[in-house]
Amino acid sequence: MSEVPVVICGAGPVGLTMSILLSRMGIPTLLVERRESVSTLPRARGIMSRTVEIWSHFGLYPEMTEFSLPPSWCQEFLYLDTLAGELIGAMPSNCMAPDAQQETTAYEFRCAAQDQIDSMLWRCAAAYPLAEIRFSTELVEHSQDDDGVTVTLQQADGSQELVRTSWLVGADGGRSPLREASGITSTGPTALGSFVNKTSAGGQPAVRPRCCGPLPTATSDASSRLTANSGGCVRSCSTRGSTLRRAGPASASSAGCAT
Ligand SMILES: Cc1cc2nc3c(=O)[nH]c(=O)nc-3n(C[C@H](O)[C@H](O)[C@H](O)COP(=O)(O)OP(=O)(O)OC[C@H]3O[C@@H](n4cnc5c(N)ncnc54)[C@H](O)[C@@H]3O)c2cc1C
Repeated sequence: MSEVPVVICGAGPVGLTMSILLSRMGIPTLLVERRESVSTLPRARGIMSRTVEIWSHFGLYPEMTEFSLPPSWCQEFLYLDTLAGELIGAMPSNCMAPDAQQETTAYEFRCAAQDQIDSMLWRCAAAYPLAEIRFSTELVEHSQDDDGVTVTLQQADGSQELVRTSWLVGADGGRSPLREASGITSTGPTALGSFVNKTSAGGQPAVRPRCCGPLPTATSDASSRLTANSGGCVRSCSTRGSTLRRAGPASASSAGCAT
């Protein structure tokens, strides 16, 4: 049975950030993720200032800034009947204003699609020699005793492996079965709302939120990304980047990551 000081379950932003933090402290980790790559779905896009601050300490500020929306585009949520349709109403979002957190941090709130964030964090985490990241590997069982935790890892072909660790980090998402199995509860209401992301790629956005200034001229590799919730709210748009990127271990690089 192999041994590693820390096993991290889940390669979302939490697990990847944990991997980077522990690598920077000189602690070897094994991160397992059941998907074959980091998620390619845009999902979250609001990044609080404190998170921007932490990721900037990893040297990621320039990359984050490059793919984030301009701050002036992020001050309102717009509600429309369809993506290109009539404006029904606008809701200011004070926490996203460029100067919203200026009393407590030098870092601004950022707005960027999570597929770009997750890819950035994965490339950064993978650049540390102390971090082993295994995709297509599911943590299917764990048992704890006085000295540590034994986890059972299962590969896509069904083969299994036991790993012994001192610490198991449950970064397996908001519903976290690991946390639940460990008896760690959360308080307060859940399921406060539901969202649906709609992504369009190629050319200019079909609609321009009114808070946006003039759109940048489309370049050959530019694409547009509009995301909307089920109520037709245009949450953000971006002309940076390409279609949803598929990240995979073969293309890992340390670009933009301060090791
Ligand atoms: C449409 C939408 C919009 C959102 N908007 C926002 C927003 O604006 N701001 C915001 O802060 N949040 C937003 N969120 C939520 C945000 O996406 C999550 O909070 C965030 O991804 C949680 O990160 P995480 O690392 O905890 O978990 P996840 O990103 O869910 O990652 C967990 C990972 O663990 C893996 N995993 C689970 N179980 C196992 C196992 N047994 N073995 C191996 N791997 C496992 C999963 O495959 C997954 O990749 C939004 C979500 C959606 C869907």
